[in-house]
Amino acid sequence: MIMKNAESTLKTLSLMHAPTGQEDEVADFLEQKFKACGFAVSRDTLGNVIGRKGKGRKVMIASHMDEISMAVKCITEKGFLKFVKIGGIYDPMLIGARVIVHASQRRLGVVASKAPHGMDGEEMKKIQEAKDLYIDIGVSSKKEAEKLGIRPGTHITFSGEFEHLNEHWVSGKAFDNRVGCTVNVGIAEAYANSTPPVELCLVGSVREESGLFGAGVATFALEPDLAIAVDVTHAFGAPGESEEDIPVGLGKGPALAVLEGGGYGLITSNEMVAWLESVAKKANMVLQMEISERGASDASRMQYIRHGMLTASIGVPLRYMHSQVEVVDVRDIAQTVKFVQGIIEEFPKRK
Ligand SMILES: [Zn+2]
Repeated sequence: MIMKNAESTLKTLSLMHAPTGQEDEVADFLEQKFKACGFAVSRDTLGNVIGRKGKGRKVMIASHMDEISMAVKCITEKGFLKFVKIGGIYDPMLIGARVIVHASQRRLGVVASKAPHGMDGEEMKKIQEAKDLYIDIGVSSKKEAEKLGIRPGTHITFSGEFEHLNEHWVSGKAFDNRVGCTVNVGIAEAYANSTPPVELCLVGSVREESGLFGAGVATFALEPDLAIAVDVTHAFGAPGESEEDIPVGLGKGPALAVLEGGGYGLITSNEMVAWLESVAKKANMVLQMEISERGASDASRMQYIRHGMLTASIGVPLRYMHSQVEVVDVRDIAQTVKFVQGIIEEFPKRK
């Protein structure tokens, strides 16, 4: 996959909106890309999109399509929206955010707080919690908001920009996990004019941010011989983070999560780690290794489906996860495509 391709796919995907539970926009895009590369595409009840090509042992590559989001809790008499968070959102990131309210038509809103001029010293020091914040959508009454199709449960996502920080680093929203979706598009493109040596199942999964649900359902249905989750993973290097805590770096290629959720999720066998290292070596790469103490990817669900699945979790390094200014190095995306393709090519030879 040429780097330019990866960057333009990521830009398109990052600017799309797929709140947990309403992932259609990204699913439609993936469906169209998979089909253009000769994959047969289907959707399931929850909205997972599945592209299949080739025959033989089954390899599933899953990347979740949803992004951290919010939902309307209630509308005040004056037309302000109170909301709940879906997925891990750090409250101080909310103030000043522009958001998209997914009513009958998409509508811009702003997350507001009263001006500092109206606060006393103690108030200024306090972190304002999400439950005390509201969204202003430019209407004056509850009736007006309701006329726009807004009701309890209406989805809300962050509005964002896509910008370069330097030649290779880009910043934007929802890189978690449009980066993984970009890898899946890269894999589809790699097999656009050839047949993979396995039955390749590329999955855009739903509802990861609220509990790894979609990938679990898709794994049960597909029953793959090898199930891989491609997601983003924390990269160190920003102030307050040490390499001791987070050994993964930007620009150093994909990372293998050997253990997730402090051992309460995915645990990768020694044999699987060794095999993946050998695949990386063949592709002239050194695989970064990590364990995550709290976070978990779809792989933490996929491993425990049915009688247990052969599972791996691959992460593209990313800074500032779950913010509107996530940062990745686009070279890591291209490297991850290369690594995943190596796994697909090598799997038929694996006993
Ligand atoms: Zn996430």
